[in-house]
Amino acid sequence: MANIWYIQVNRYCNNKCHFCSNPSNGADITYERGIELIDDFLSKNYDGVIFTWWEPTLSPNLSLWIKYSNKKWLECRVISNGMMCADCEYMQKLKDVWLSLIHFSLYSYIPKIHDFLTDTPWSYKKVLLAIQNALSLWINVQINSVINKYNQNHLDKTTKFIVKNFPNITHFVWNNLDPLMMRQTKIALSTLPDFDIASLSLIHAMKFLELSWRTFRVERFPLCFMRGYEYASTETRKIIKNEERLVYFLDFRETINDKWADFIHDKFLECNNCDLNSICAWVYEKDKYYNYIKVVPQKINKDEKENIIKKIKA
Ligand code: SF4
Repeated sequence: MANIWYIQVNRYCNNKCHFCSNPSNGADITYERGIELIDDFLSKNYDGVIFTWWEPTLSPNLSLWIKYSNKKWLECRVISNGMMCADCEYMQKLKDVWLSLIHFSLYSYIPKIHDFLTDTPWSYKKVLLAIQNALSLWINVQINSVINKYNQNHLDKTTKFIVKNFPNITHFVWNNLDPLMMRQTKIALSTLPDFDIASLSLIHAMKFLELSWRTFRVERFPLCFMRGYEYASTETRKIIKNEERLVYFLDFRETINDKWADFIHDKFLECNNCDLNSICAWVYEKDKYYNYIKVVPQKINKDEKENIIKKIKA
């Protein structure tokens, strides 16, 4: 997908992730509103629709919207915590309406860390069952993970665990934690990552995936912490390819159209001395939350920078 439409179908969940960026407000959309949004998307010529946040599988209309999207030849996918899809019958229901791709959120290969972060006992066991169910029905699975304090030192081990147990999974997405909308509890705030530590295990994970011909994306992580893999930065890709992302939120934000410029975050003074400055999105929420980050201006030659751009365009 290039230009993407995200539809937030409900704002309640059967997990209670401490760092959830869209905490429950009980809202959801009707079947008719979902169809209206999909039709609107069609008229705007977007490339795909993602049903998400938090948790789309709790909506009784999800399978109807998937069926409708497929009938209109729209690429569609679901982002889920896996709790409902641990049930074979539910997974089969989505397969019956031709769901072909689902992202499951897994935060750690260590059960107690995943269950602690979701604040939901057995959520680890259920997401693994969900992955198994989807793959056995030939539904493509991709893994999403939020980079945070509790998994920052083993992002690589979690990736290797998934690849070992589910070799058919070929794409991984890491989102650095978004503290802006999350609950402001002591535990939630304790999940903010140390970028230096996370960078080490993230780079190992990316190296491992690249060597096994798998793909990955990283969001909200400045380029100086992912050197060698700049091409995988979601924001850098948006900047270079001038892509958009349309998001329908179930709160005061309603519809937000993220143009490439909206993917740019907050700049440190040091960034002015960095050769990656023009293709880096800098640091998300630098002043309020990530003010402890120490960015490292990079020196690279013209060819290296051109190669990053070429790789993204290719
Ligand atoms: S120093 Fe600034 S511009 Fe350079 S890579 Fe880091 S965040 Fe990006």
